[in-house]
Amino acid sequence: MDAVQKWVNELRIRDLIEVLKERDFDAVMAKDKDDARRIVMDMIPEGSVIAVGGSVTLNETGILDEIRSDKYKFIDRYNTSSFEEMLDKYREGYYADFLVSSTNAVTMEGQLVNIDCTGNRTSQIVFGPKKVIIVAGVNKIVANVEEGIKRAKSIAPMNARRITHKTPCAMDDNCKCTECRVQPRVCNVTSIVDGCHYFPKRITIVLVPETLGY
Ligand code: SF4
Repeated sequence: MDAVQKWVNELRIRDLIEVLKERDFDAVMAKDKDDARRIVMDMIPEGSVIAVGGSVTLNETGILDEIRSDKYKFIDRYNTSSFEEMLDKYREGYYADFLVSSTNAVTMEGQLVNIDCTGNRTSQIVFGPKKVIIVAGVNKIVANVEEGIKRAKSIAPMNARRITHKTPCAMDDNCKCTECRVQPRVCNVTSIVDGCHYFPKRITIVLVPETLGY
């Protein structure tokens, strides 16, 4: 990435961190995606039970590979033989020590915005796992909740296609939302985390001054 662009990104993230801390989130800036991986893995003690939210960012940073190591008890939602088993793993996630995920958007006003198909990721960010670690590239930063929802909806067709859900947006040539009402719809649940005051620092947000994920 261009050094000047990275500098601009870092300044924006610095401002955002101040806002997030006022809302009792824990927030840090990583230098790059490798640094983000180190920060995340340093936070997780060996033997921890870890759930993850579906995320391109976790793949791109190598965090998912690290979580798969024998050092942790990974609730592997990707290794299931049936839909029911996958749902059971989602349910197990509520009792995890850590949820590691990205977010669809983080606002400059200090909120996390997410849209889900089943709601496991959106709900576990809100409550369940003792600790939540969110990794977000600079591309996830938006002005406010309205922009966050707009962003989440704009990338939903890509996510639908990635997880092979046969929604109209993932199947036609336009990659556009038609506000479908089909069973595999990936936009069933929207969550907005407006603050972390009841459980201060339960959620740590690791912000990276590079583009990560969708
Ligand atoms: S509502 Fe349906 S068509 Fe629109 S983005 Fe979501 S899954 Fe795609």
